[in-house]
Amino acid sequence: MAEEKLPTRKEDFAEWYNQIVVRAELADYAPVRGCMVVRPYGWAIWENIQAALDRRFKETGHVNAAFPLLIPKSFLEKEKEHVEGFSPELAVVTIGGGETLEEPLVIRPTSETIIGYMYSKWIQSYRDLPILINQWGNVVRWELRTKLFLRTLEFYWQEGHTAHATEEEARQETMRMLDVYADFAINEGAVPVIRGIKSQAEKFAGAVMSTTIEAMMGDTRALQSGTSHFLGQNFAKAFDIKFLGRTNELEYAWTTSWGLSTRFVGAIIMTHGDDQGLILPPRLAPIQVVIVPIFKTDAENSTVMECVHRIQAELKAAGVRIKLDDRTEVTPGFKFNDWEMRGVPLRLEIGPKDVEKGTVALARRDKPGREGKSFVPQADIAKTVLQLLEVIQAALLERATAFRDSHIYEPKDYQEFKEAVLNGWAYTGWCESPECETKIKEDTKATTRCIPVDQPDWTGKCIVCSGKATKKVYFSKAY
Ligand SMILES: [Zn+2]
Repeated sequence: MAEEKLPTRKEDFAEWYNQIVVRAELADYAPVRGCMVVRPYGWAIWENIQAALDRRFKETGHVNAAFPLLIPKSFLEKEKEHVEGFSPELAVVTIGGGETLEEPLVIRPTSETIIGYMYSKWIQSYRDLPILINQWGNVVRWELRTKLFLRTLEFYWQEGHTAHATEEEARQETMRMLDVYADFAINEGAVPVIRGIKSQAEKFAGAVMSTTIEAMMGDTRALQSGTSHFLGQNFAKAFDIKFLGRTNELEYAWTTSWGLSTRFVGAIIMTHGDDQGLILPPRLAPIQVVIVPIFKTDAENSTVMECVHRIQAELKAAGVRIKLDDRTEVTPGFKFNDWEMRGVPLRLEIGPKDVEKGTVALARRDKPGREGKSFVPQADIAKTVLQLLEVIQAALLERATAFRDSHIYEPKDYQEFKEAVLNGWAYTGWCESPECETKIKEDTKATTRCIPVDQPDWTGKCIVCSGKATKKVYFSKAY
């Protein structure tokens, strides 16, 4: 696998990405066009993402459940915007057990409809509210242009669906989950995201308001990395989710939904990776430290391995996720490249001289070469390693934030705007008219990414029509 170098990110970012996914053994192409096989190493990253999110969902009062993969087609048709948005992407089952089905079934593209149907059965009184349910699962959307992790026909995700007695509560829930996503992305993924609201053109089909966390990838394009939607009473009305309120009157519930998917693995690759391969943030890395023993003779082997096993046991006891690479058929140099490609945050080398001196060599993945190398005492090795992993985690976030901020521009006029979105994001005034939004998309392929939640105290003009800007907004090209 080390035989050929990756294309550099500058040369061909798209091909660099594709090759990392395959060569680091994160995922592979399935026999069905547009589907992916998530390989064990990629799935292990996803499992760590799941654990970090699931913990946060439960801390905020949510519980998990499972709803069916198959949904009656008529359900999708009950909410007008929802069916318009999803129809072109539906996979429909028309035959079951050799018989043509009376009613075709769709493979869920998202579960608002089936869950709304169930909620209408479960909710009778205000005492039944709120319902705060999440489900981990997979969905199918018949995408035409696909890319591993970023856009595939089938993908894995979680979808939260909540129902509330009041509009205010549902709006609070929408923003609470947006904050949960932002906290996860920043503190676990080291992916600096911006929280914001989607324009009407970019919102989820069927939502009143969609919110998003937007991240800048290494080629400066944006990646929508998680979304939280306020659905108003749209789905409650479509599915008759009604309850008897405190004043004894029948009211429609207020609902939300929110999701984050395996797409986030793509966000990690494109935020942190370099020309040597993947770089994983320590908190999500399946392997945080790889130990590479270095020896030539059999005598060296036995003294080195004795020391290696002792250190391995110490690190394991301290909760560090470690891998001992004791392959004898490949050279240490080969192993270095191999684990660099796979993005392991820290490499620990032990040779005969280290055994003698009571030291080990540590090499940081985020700082290749001499800069990231240090020699530390074997005493207190677990403490040293845990501290260094935290330093790496923080350094990745800092580097990604600096990169993002140095590629956000505030253009003076439309000409500057067009240049800004060639290689970065434009942060600028918008009058919120769909005409100006469409013109930008047609002229530059950039879209409104989000209207930041934290609006600055600012007045200015719309970058397109020079009318009064009602919001300051991020525009950029996106995945
Ligand atoms: Zn305008």
